[in-house]
This record gives sequence, C-alpha cells and structure tokens, in this order.
Amino acid sequence: MNLPKSLLISGGRVIDPANGFDGPADVLILDGKIAAVGVTAGAQAPVGTQRFVVTGKIVCPGLIDLHAHLREPGQSAKETIATGTAAAARGGFTSVVCMPNTSPAIDNAGTVALIQQRAESHGVVNVFVAGAITKNIAGEELAPIGSLKQAGVIAITDDGHCVQNNELMRRALEYAMMFDLPVMDHCQDYSLVTDGVVHEGYWSAALGLRGWQASGEELIVARNVMLAELTGAHVHCQHLSSAGSVRLLREAKARGIPISGEACPHHFTLTDAVLAGSDEFWKNDGRGLFSAQGERPRWPSYDTHFKMNPPLRQAADRAAIIEGLADGTIEIIASDHAPHCDYEKQVEFDYAPFGITGFETELALSLMQLYHTSKLSLPNLIAKFTVAPARLLRLPNKGNFNLGSDGDVTVFDPDEEWIFDAAASASKSKNTPFAGWNLKGRARAVIVRGEVVYAGDPVAEPALSLAR
Ligand SMILES: [Zn+2]
Repeated sequence: MNLPKSLLISGGRVIDPANGFDGPADVLILDGKIAAVGVTAGAQAPVGTQRFVVTGKIVCPGLIDLHAHLREPGQSAKETIATGTAAAARGGFTSVVCMPNTSPAIDNAGTVALIQQRAESHGVVNVFVAGAITKNIAGEELAPIGSLKQAGVIAITDDGHCVQNNELMRRALEYAMMFDLPVMDHCQDYSLVTDGVVHEGYWSAALGLRGWQASGEELIVARNVMLAELTGAHVHCQHLSSAGSVRLLREAKARGIPISGEACPHHFTLTDAVLAGSDEFWKNDGRGLFSAQGERPRWPSYDTHFKMNPPLRQAADRAAIIEGLADGTIEIIASDHAPHCDYEKQVEFDYAPFGITGFETELALSLMQLYHTSKLSLPNLIAKFTVAPARLLRLPNKGNFNLGSDGDVTVFDPDEEWIFDAAASASKSKNTPFAGWNLKGRARAVIVRGEVVYAGDPVAEPALSLAR
C-alpha cells in the first residue's frame, strides 16, 4: 500500500502575506499540496509523516524569481537548467522564470517544450518559461503568441532587447491581452543609449566610459504607460534602475493604469561609484551599507563584474528605487540572474557582456537593504517574492499557503551573518560583484511540492534537524 507522502514543517514563524498571517505555526504538506497551517496542523498529520524541525526560522510560501537567465538551450557553458536551479534553491527560490534570449530564442512551441522537458528531468526547482514578443527577439515581427501560450509560456518579453517599434509593441499588447498573458519589457531606447556601457554621469566622464542615459530607460517606461493606457493591457517593466522610472510608474499607478515594475538587488545596493574601485565606493556611496565583522571586500576600478544592463546609477537613483519598493510602487524583486563564463568577463570593460549572477545573494541583499534598515516589514518584503509575482504571472497555486496550493516552502533565517563564497556557488558561472561580501540573512531550506530539495549549507553541518 502506498501511504500518501507527507511532510510537517514545525516550530517556525510562518509568514503568509497573501493571507495576512504571521505567527508561530506548523505547515502540513500532503501529496505535494498545502494541507494545514496552524499550531495544530500536526494533529492532522498521518502516521509516518516526515517532520522537519525549523525552530526560530521564518517559514513562508516558496519564493519566486520571475527574471532569470538559465542559458539553455545553446549557452550551457554559462549555465544549465540543472546548475541554475540548484543555485536558485540555495538562494531560497522554489520557482524561477527563464528569459527567452537563448540560442535559439524561445519564440516557438518546440523550444518551450524542450525547456519544459529539461526542467522536468534536471530542474531542482520549478521552471516557468517566458516566451519572446518578437521572432528571434529581433523586434521586427511578432512571435506566434497564441501558440506560445498554448505551449505553456506564462509571460512574453524580449528581455535583453527592447521592442523599439511602438506600433509593434501596441499589437503585442493587444494579442497578449487576448491570450491573458502578461507582457514584460526590458526598457531601453536604442537611439538614446546607443553603445553606452555605464550610467551617463560623473563616473562615465571621469573614467572615460561611454554613457547609458537614465532617460534611455525612462522614455520606454513612459511609452509603456501610454500603451497600457491605450490598450488596457498590463505591462510589467523589468529591472528598473532610475529615479525617473519610479516617478513615472508611481504617477501612472495613481491614475489606475495597468502597469507594474520590478527591481534587482544590485540596483538598490550599489551605485556607479563602484566602477572607480572599492575605495571610492566605501568612502562615499557605500558608507551606510550594512557591514558585519570582518573586512570590506576590495575590487579594482573598471571591474567588469559591475557591468550590467541597465547600469548601476547614482545614489539618488538607488534611494528612489528603495523608496519605490517601500511605498509599493515597485511590487516585485527579481535577480536578473545572468551567468557568463570567466573568459567572457575577463576582457576590457567595453567588450565584456552585461550581467551578473544573482540567485544566491538576492534574499540577503534584499533583507539588508530593506528589512534590516526598517524600510519594509518582513511580511511586506516576502510579498514581493511571493504573492506579487504569483499574481502577475497568474499562478493562483503559488506564492501563498492557501489549502490546496502547491507545497512550495522557503525556510530562512533573516539574521544569519555569512560571507558569500563565489567560488563555492552552485551556479556554473561566478560573475558576481558580491564575492567575499558580509551578508545578513540566508535561506536554510527549500521545499518543492513537499520534497526537501535543499537543506542548509552542504559543506557545513546540516542546519536543521530532519527526523521521522
Ligand atoms: Zn533585461
């Protein structure tokens, strides 16, 4: 006889923002679904239930990262679905959304099916697929949005690129609305940004690097606001980096326009002063950052681990992103996990690819910059990783502890201090600007549909007791 598989997560502080719940409770998962939440949940556990004791830890619905590059198919030297999802699990994520700028691009049902198959056999956590807006992400002709939806994509985006033709973007929004698909946009006006590599400002001039104007992002955010108003379709603006973008979003939302935005930890932690080297950063913009015991990490000027798109901006932009997260203008936090091989990054600044890895540092940096600075409560921060992305992606069984929802759970310690060892990362690539950083807050276990897929630091003592 096959007993139903069951797991009881006990002793933690359960935070479920979707249901406004915050308190000591146990979580019972039966057959991969949430079966009970509360102090007496254990009473409903059948004989043979596995007990997972997490005393003193936060227990919340599995975290969702809706912006990641898993690099399959075509770029498996950088990352694979296996290594990328292993890194996601270590970072506390139970679901990730992979971007379509693979090789070939995810612009047809066959490629979607290939990724779903690979994710099924090699994925450590849930993988959701974003399809392209345009064929081959070339910005010229719409991808077959209906058949992408049928194949299972949960959003469309040309991420890495931006649809420049406003008429084409309007049609994409109209089609996407017919198929109830959210449209996500990487906001970059090519005519303004041209070949910029860093934020256009004091440091681009001082260091002799080509500038990427903040208005190059803001113009497209404004375009998206107008097209959302015109079509009634929801537009989600990806990885916002500038104060002007936050202001546009705030004003548009106040007028009831269907628009949303996300922010990445590097944009609300770092500034473009890092490009001049660590001394310059710690002297001014980095002074107020949380620092545990130990030395502050050092890096040289022109370090390509600080090259990303959109670029790191000024302290005022960083403050505006934090303010936007705090007041709810920006509802979602994502990593934009973008792995690249060492040899690709170890070149002159101009030639290095944009992007950094992010899964394993995302939760800690968010806790440090938003929770430990008292900008956001723990439930409000968790909402940006759970109920908010689940709502945008229309995933009613994710991001909450409703009875019958998927048994995806993240267990974390918001106060644990640790040093990020990039060399020991589960990702295939090590292109992170946060190597050697003192971090505060860490995922301790990840449960996907009732299965414990990650529990503590694999090189250290098991952090939590697992008992039958
Ligand atoms: Zn992007």
